Amino acid sequence: MLTYSQAVEKIFATVQPLPPVECALDEALGKVIAERAVARWDLPSCDNSAMDGFAFSWGEETIGDRLKVRGVIYAGDSHQDKVEKGEAVRIMTGAPLPPCCDTVIPIEDVREEGQFILLTRGTTRGEHVRLRGEEVVSGEALVEAGTVLHAGDIGLLAAAGIDRIKIHPMPRVAILSTGNELVNLGDPPQPGEIVNSNIHLLQARLKEIGCETLPLDIARDDRDDLVRRIKEGLNADLLITTGGVSIGDRDHVQEVLDQLGFKLGFWKVAIKPGKPVLFGQIDRQIIFGLPGNPAAAAATFELFVRPALGRLSGHPAPFPPVLRAVLTEDVCDGGKRQAFLWGDLIETTAGYYSFSPNRHQGSNRNRAVQSAAALLSVPVGSGTISAGSEVAVMVLRLPSRQQINFS
Ligand code: AMP
Ligand code: MG
Repeated sequence: MLTYSQAVEKIFATVQPLPPVECALDEALGKVIAERAVARWDLPSCDNSAMDGFAFSWGEETIGDRLKVRGVIYAGDSHQDKVEKGEAVRIMTGAPLPPCCDTVIPIEDVREEGQFILLTRGTTRGEHVRLRGEEVVSGEALVEAGTVLHAGDIGLLAAAGIDRIKIHPMPRVAILSTGNELVNLGDPPQPGEIVNSNIHLLQARLKEIGCETLPLDIARDDRDDLVRRIKEGLNADLLITTGGVSIGDRDHVQEVLDQLGFKLGFWKVAIKPGKPVLFGQIDRQIIFGLPGNPAAAAATFELFVRPALGRLSGHPAPFPPVLRAVLTEDVCDGGKRQAFLWGDLIETTAGYYSFSPNRHQGSNRNRAVQSAAALLSVPVGSGTISAGSEVAVMVLRLPSRQQINFS
């Protein structure tokens, strides 16, 4: 049986980024840019004032000197008039500097006396002036291909005139739940029936990531129904099924996939929970068959599907964030399988965390996932890891902070 890291290697060897598409800059947040973005013009585009003040041509003006004020320039104006020696022009922040001026003295450093200003401190040449191109020059690379775009990138790219860019799209993900016992949320379950909760959990996770989801109708544990439903999911970039991948009499998912031309990547990984996880492709479409138990489906989503989605969307390193935390209780390894334990993260002091394994860990437990902020990997052969040990955990969400804690 494959180990977890061997299985992930297989996924990365198979899954490639989706072909780039062009989009408006405002649609690119959180996506991976597919080509280097280059500034269309200089930033700033002209020399301009960094302060509300008075612009003049520097000639060693110092405290006590007087300058005659001629006119005013606001941001957005242009000004070509000559400013003579002994003169200044009133200027607001961001307004273009007249060509003959090179220095600005802020309003708070002068005393205004009618048409004149009296300097109340000395000056140096060039102060409070932002020079054309001092931040970015036209043609300069702003963001390299393969970068995840954050709000700050969007602001910079907008300032440099980039209104459309090429990105890797977020994958469209079809989700299929299988099982005769499942009913849709809203329909009252009869004895022996359960609500198809997996589809809601998976949809929520996919929404957090920013993927478009295509929920499919529940497939019964019947080959024909499975074929029909799976076919409906084959026009997405990735199909997730839950249930029916184990060795039960009615676990037909793999068999039906085979009928549809499935190329097996792997089936079964030495992990706990989630051992029966299935991965492969039909043509270019990526398929994950997750176990039906809610906590197993949720864990295998984090461990396998999330990195695959990251790779599809072009992330250079599609791995979950990891934090170091102090374990609050002893934990045991999972025998021959690498165990993953759900747990809560608490920020004990600013930037320091503890990890408390959940009381519920069973793969059938919705509660295991509900209160979990992180997953702890317990490698084969770890034995008991004692309370107080520092461990690295995969972060699902950070706890909110009670205080600012910054001074
Ligand atoms: P399976 O993997 O099909 O053998 O299902 C294992 C367990 O997970 C069974 O107890 C199922 O009832 C439960 N299960 C399967 N699919 C779902 C689902 N979509 N939502 C919630 N529980 C499920
Ligand atoms: Mg089933």
